[in-house]
Amino acid sequence: MNYNFLNLYDSNLPYIDELKQAALRVIESGRYLDGEETSTLEKEIAEYLGSSNAIAVSNGLDAIRLIFRALIEEGRLSEGDEILFPSNTFIASVLPLSELGLLPKPVPVNPHTHNLDFNRVRNFISPQTKGILLVHLYGSPCWDMPLLSELKERGLLIIEDNAQAFGAESCEPGFHGSSKCGALADAAAISFYPTKNLGALGDAGMVVTSDSRLASDVRTLARYGSDRRYHHIYRGYNNRMDELQAAFLRVKLPHIDKENYRRAEIAGIYGAKINHPDVTTPEIFKDGRQVWHQYVITSSRRDELKEFLRKNGIDTDIHYPVPPQSQPCYKDFFSGEIRGEAEHLANSILSLPIANINPEDALKISEKINEFPI
Ligand SMILES: *Cc1c(COP(=O)(O)O)cnc(C)c1O
Repeated sequence: MNYNFLNLYDSNLPYIDELKQAALRVIESGRYLDGEETSTLEKEIAEYLGSSNAIAVSNGLDAIRLIFRALIEEGRLSEGDEILFPSNTFIASVLPLSELGLLPKPVPVNPHTHNLDFNRVRNFISPQTKGILLVHLYGSPCWDMPLLSELKERGLLIIEDNAQAFGAESCEPGFHGSSKCGALADAAAISFYPTKNLGALGDAGMVVTSDSRLASDVRTLARYGSDRRYHHIYRGYNNRMDELQAAFLRVKLPHIDKENYRRAEIAGIYGAKINHPDVTTPEIFKDGRQVWHQYVITSSRRDELKEFLRKNGIDTDIHYPVPPQSQPCYKDFFSGEIRGEAEHLANSILSLPIANINPEDALKISEKINEFPI
């Protein structure tokens, strides 16, 4: 047996001819930024998700930063406001918040879904809490309409980090009628980092929102704060997406549902076949649609299991070994109360191969996991 965790060349191989044609089209167009590929991709993504605005940007982190910076410029958030975020996520969810002077506040996650624990969110709301960043981690929709409607009524802004769940669907529609992750709340950030389900061949991202004022401010901020040529209303950034990346993404977008179904099939096999007393498989939702950016099992003997699988030719990974609030860059920034629980989860999670394998491989990997000595 020899299973890589991920091979990006293999992921792109089915589209290689179309990708080459797309690259050639851009090279020969003489237009490398702010051209037709980008504007068409924006329309295609907005339509796919069921939102009215999509703004192509440089990457997922910048997409999150642009949303929060625009909300600050609009006076809807101010320095020192608290933003809740799930304690199990990639650090890029949190970095833009602290950079902008907001106060990210970690909230516990549900050990079965690895997503925000909706039952405990209320306990973390204080008079300073002005928003919540939902992360659809591992491709699982993180949405609870009754709770989130209540938070919205209380005036909280609800933002999605949809870096990992492109194509996923919640069981209930969001505030604007679409049930697709990325179009559920006030605004969403998307990442097209090469390893994501819809991955570019370099960095790329998108902001999606039904709020046209927010969309316009994000667009302005991403272009040096300029609302028209050489007129700067904000001290902005340069956060454009390359035409080349937009063209690549347009090749892959029509195939994303098929790709996500393949991932769901693999997840179904893992879920049905892995049965080891020391291993817990992730919850498969009865309603809604997960897109399995990662398939993450848990085990109290995680390190031993990882080593056992490595010796048997199965490469695994950990998303993420250290939660953001426990990272050295945030030493003394967060209070300690929630760290233990999040670190305990981080020490038990293990991501199995899912991106480049077929159902037969998933069966063999499941069998090997079941052979892990007790
Ligand atoms: C990948 C990722 C990001 C950052 O996206 P980049 O395009 O790499 O900047 C943010 N949040 C989560 C949850 C991610 O997985």
